[in-house]
Amino acid sequence: MYKISIDKNLFQNIQFKKTNILEKKTTKYWQKELLEPKIVDDKIRYSIKQVDKLILTNGLGEDKPQLTIECDKIDYSSQKDIFEFHLGKIIEQKNTDLEDNYKDNLIEELLRQKAQLEDTMNRDHLTGVYNRRKMESDLNMFANQNNSSFLCAIFVDADRFKGINDNFGHDVGDRTLVYLGQKLQKHVSLLNGEVYRYGGEEFIILCFISKSEIINKLDDLRKDIKSQRIYHSTKDISITVSMGVSFYSESSSKEEMIKKADNGVYKAKNNGRDRIEFG
Ligand code: GH3
Ligand code: MG
Ligand code: MG
Repeated sequence: MYKISIDKNLFQNIQFKKTNILEKKTTKYWQKELLEPKIVDDKIRYSIKQVDKLILTNGLGEDKPQLTIECDKIDYSSQKDIFEFHLGKIIEQKNTDLEDNYKDNLIEELLRQKAQLEDTMNRDHLTGVYNRRKMESDLNMFANQNNSSFLCAIFVDADRFKGINDNFGHDVGDRTLVYLGQKLQKHVSLLNGEVYRYGGEEFIILCFISKSEIINKLDDLRKDIKSQRIYHSTKDISITVSMGVSFYSESSSKEEMIKKADNGVYKAKNNGRDRIEFG
């Protein structure tokens, strides 16, 4: 592999792909380097040695800009009496502006992919709302925040959901869960919280809200879910939910808060469904 020092303009032209031919005068040095004599029919003929790669540099010193570049072919031009190095892809760059740019872009892209992957891992693939894994990590964080005295959990369980699957099929059941997820997502910002699919037809909302405000807001959510019809070709479907509410300030641990919210759901089911109860 040859290391060739070239002037700044040419270096940049090659770097930015404005040129892909490097010309070298047929000096003694290059003739000696590139011409390989062989005897054919008692005559001396020359072939041009080929190389895979070149290193091109510009300037002086240790940190001079450097390109490692593929060399597709070396030709001789009799018209110009020069050797032509036909250049291919840049394999590596050192100490060039582009190298810094390239690294910045690469880091940005990797960070973006990492964030995207994390988000995918935190979401339920059917409804798109956060999943139980994210709920558990958020619950840990929320319980340790200064405002944890306002933290509350709402368990939301779809009423007689099995009946929707049985009567209309699993696909319609899935579509109903998507509908529920969207409704809950719409209301959680008013509740100052987040919604998570806990599993099956059960969701959990974690939010920061005072006891005096919560009932009215949850009742709006309950009515909103109930009022909308989910389209089906034979009969539009409606759904109701039972909700159980608990407060961190009234629980001995975060686990107990979730258990109490679940108890609230049992009470709501026993009291006739489509209602909100404290656990
Ligand atoms: P209840 O009012 O007492 O809560 O009755 P329910 O029918 O909602 O409760 P049950 O626990 O008996 O049934 C829940 C059903 O939810 C059973 C299960 O097949 C269904 N289910 C769970 N996950 C999914 C899902 O991802 N898609 C669909 N289509 N159905 C699901
Ligand atoms: Mg359930
Ligand atoms: Mg249910």
